[in-house]
Amino acid sequence: ALKHRIVIVGGGAAGITVAAELKRRDARLDVAIVEPSEAHSYQPGWTLVGAGVFTRRQTEREERSLIPKGVTWIKAAVSAFDPENNVVSLSDGRTLGYDYLVACPGLKIAWDAIQGLRDTLGRNGVCSNYRADTAEYTWRLIQEFQGGTALFTQPAMPIKCAGAPQKIMYMMADHLRRRGKLDASKLKFCLAGDALFGVPFFVPPLQKAVDDYGIDTCYRHNLIAINGPAKAALFSVTDKDGVARDVEMRFDMIHVVPPQTGLDVVRDSPLANVAGWIEVDAATLRHVRYPNVFSLGDAASTTNAKTAAAVRLQSPVVVANLLAAIQGKDMAEAYDGYGSCPLTVALGKIVLAEFAYGGKVTPSFPLDPRVPRKSMWYLKTKFLPWLYWSHMLRGGTIDIRHRERGW
Ligand code: FAD
Repeated sequence: ALKHRIVIVGGGAAGITVAAELKRRDARLDVAIVEPSEAHSYQPGWTLVGAGVFTRRQTEREERSLIPKGVTWIKAAVSAFDPENNVVSLSDGRTLGYDYLVACPGLKIAWDAIQGLRDTLGRNGVCSNYRADTAEYTWRLIQEFQGGTALFTQPAMPIKCAGAPQKIMYMMADHLRRRGKLDASKLKFCLAGDALFGVPFFVPPLQKAVDDYGIDTCYRHNLIAINGPAKAALFSVTDKDGVARDVEMRFDMIHVVPPQTGLDVVRDSPLANVAGWIEVDAATLRHVRYPNVFSLGDAASTTNAKTAAAVRLQSPVVVANLLAAIQGKDMAEAYDGYGSCPLTVALGKIVLAEFAYGGKVTPSFPLDPRVPRKSMWYLKTKFLPWLYWSHMLRGGTIDIRHRERGW
């Protein structure tokens, strides 16, 4: 039967980084990656595709070019996890055994949770930066916008990159202002929650951007249905007493971010917690019931911001602890919940939100992180993509936080 010593499920940001780092630590390790897709996307770049700063091609590479040397690529999807027997089932009918499993297949964007969305996405002024093709459509709509109403939706948390629903809103507002169209436009941020951002420390600069562009904020608004041809969006709006009513809003353009959950294959497996995420210890990233299973990235139950930035710091922890497990030693490393969200409050300016578990603010640089900066725009558009492709996915170890050095 097919078997590898270490099986990694998912060849996204997490899977490639862990594989590369394992091989760098010990080139003899027998590692396989299960990944069905031939393309790999730098998803943090999609926000910039939507704003016309990156092309879609700049965010994509061939998966084959990223699989580390000596690692076996199994081009299939996992269709079931069976951690009691240390096997996974594959979409091509085979089963694959392992001694150690790293499960990082990402999350499910629930496009079907919004009635009518699938039929109209990518047409009728309905766009989303949560898919590469419809991020390209976002940019087309922004360029063509001559005034009217633009809606931006944000579902209940958790979602990947919690700031992404509003980043594109600020960049569009700035774009309209530069073209002299902002006064003729009404931008509305319709969010399920009742705060602009989950970490209160970063709310003031975002509130300032909202006020400055004259954006309406509509809290406790949950998008439930969309009618593209009629240019109408239906929200379930909950008042302060928890009573819900339906409210319809007209739009000329709408940027949609659907709710996000664990993948079905995870939710239906013994690996999941009740919410559908792979249930790992928040610090060691080892599964709470299956000691030979680790998880990280968007699929994991940890409460950090679901970001590539989090993956960058989780990967060395998983690798160190997995190697310790192989040697029968105690868990060596702990993850502190670091994640980061570069908030594009204007074209060319970013508030770099960096924080760990419990909303603890953990800046990498000795500067007030609430101040929008041009330098952070360069970090986002130049340095971070390089860090991702050329360093992180190759199993590198730069820690740009420098916190240990007392910054
Ligand atoms: P992914 O990178 O999504 O990879 C999961 C992989 O698993 C995929 O390759 C998929 O094909 C594969 N897979 C799925 N199902 C199966 C299966 N059944 N079997 C095998 N393989 C499977 N992060 C930041 O740090 N900064 C940002 O500014 C930022 N902005 C973002 C903006 C947008 C619009 C989006 C969508 C994301 C953004 N992120 C950002 C988040 C970041 O991209 C993710 O957190 C990161 O990619 C998570 O890595 P992952 O490996 O867990 O999941």
